[in-house]
Amino acid sequence: MEKLLDNIIQTNRKYVEEGEVASYIPELKKGNKNDLGVYVTTLNGEEFSAGDYETRFTIQSISKVISLIIAIMDNGEDYVFSKVGVEHTADAFNSITNLETKNLHRPSNPMINAGAIAIVSLIKGREPDEVFERILNFTRKITGNDNININREAYISEKATGDRNRSLAYFMKSTGVITNDVEKVLDVYFKQCSMEVTCKDISRIGAFLANDGVIPLTGEKVIPRETARIVKAIMTTCGMYDASGEFAVNIGMPAKSGVGGGIMAVAPEKMGIGVVGPSLDKKGNSIAGIKVLADLSKELELSIF
Ligand code: GLU
Repeated sequence: MEKLLDNIIQTNRKYVEEGEVASYIPELKKGNKNDLGVYVTTLNGEEFSAGDYETRFTIQSISKVISLIIAIMDNGEDYVFSKVGVEHTADAFNSITNLETKNLHRPSNPMINAGAIAIVSLIKGREPDEVFERILNFTRKITGNDNININREAYISEKATGDRNRSLAYFMKSTGVITNDVEKVLDVYFKQCSMEVTCKDISRIGAFLANDGVIPLTGEKVIPRETARIVKAIMTTCGMYDASGEFAVNIGMPAKSGVGGGIMAVAPEKMGIGVVGPSLDKKGNSIAGIKVLADLSKELELSIF
């Protein structure tokens, strides 16, 4: 397996040239465009890695999966999906038009920014700090990594420049999707996006979902199988932004990407895969990371379709 991963990284390294590191959050410009790494966690606890798998990056949109799980656990799926839809959108992840013109002002799904911000507003906790603590602790638990923390520079950078997210959130407050304090909700959202991880961490999140909500390394059942099923379905249809259809055709795994360059993929009943490659394509997905997953899916026949 390690040899296969090494070969796949080597073959696909050239694609980093074709993308760009995200720059709309100033701190993300510091990402190394040339990095490319992969980490695999199988359900029997074996782990394999190749390339720049030790690269640290901010989790960004991959955190949307975690807050969705917690919101469902807190409120039940019926209430959560009365606030946020589960339909794929062909618009960009931070689209404003989508929010105003579709679904009676309800965000289309929990994987676009508007949907994710609304999801954060549903997580229970007395104060924003407590809400974020819960997200952080849950992330530490399912990754088995108590050292995960926020990258303070990334958090401050996004908070200082996140006006587009602010506009989405205030719009949703005006339509009643968000009912609590907008700035407090956004603060938690910016913090959850700034959690710093490696592809080992995200491969373990993938393995936890591949194992239907049971942590493979400890055997602990953390969420009902049904919640894991719902989350994987939404990742399959919406997880790769407006490239989710193409990803399903070419790779065929539930996955979620983030603009920090990470992609977390799930091979149900087999393994979780974490990829890092901060060089992004126009839609915000790791350009070489997608190629790595395509080769891995082909070689190991991981497509669920
Ligand atoms: N923090 C980023 C934002 O809200 C997350 C976007 C992403 O990873 O897609 O813009």
